[in-house]
Amino acid sequence: MALDLTAALPRLLPRAIAWAEAREAEVLNSGTALSPNGGLALAQAVGVRHPDLIRVSLVDHIPLPDDPELREATLEAGLLGPDTLGITFGYAIYVRSDHDAAGLLWHECRHVHQYEQAGSIADFLPVYLKQIVEFGYDSAPLEVDARAHERDTP
Ligand SMILES: [Zn+2]
Repeated sequence: MALDLTAALPRLLPRAIAWAEAREAEVLNSGTALSPNGGLALAQAVGVRHPDLIRVSLVDHIPLPDDPELREATLEAGLLGPDTLGITFGYAIYVRSDHDAAGLLWHECRHVHQYEQAGSIADFLPVYLKQIVEFGYDSAPLEVDARAHERDTP
């Protein structure tokens, strides 16, 4: 039986925040800064205030939570899955290494801007995840906003 995401969200939220914060810490340690002649300007163009803080991690697979219920919820919500090409946690951006990052980076940097506006992962995720559950992934206003900032060029 499918998980009732609306009912599960309040219970899952603290675990989702902890997991996202751990992913951010990991990428901030091991990821790559945006290039001065490209990525930094791109991030600035979509409204990021501190593009120098961003780190990008190229991975074979976007990581999934070990927590079984959290994993099931992210898959069911369409947040993470086999088709996920990138995801952003605060200043940390995961990008699948087999995907051309150019267009995707615009989208993910806009999410960084959204995190900055919210103030922190703990402030952003409750709003974002509520939208995902309420509207569905494609129609969530924060996703619509990120898609509106995608460009084809690096
Ligand atoms: Zn997105």
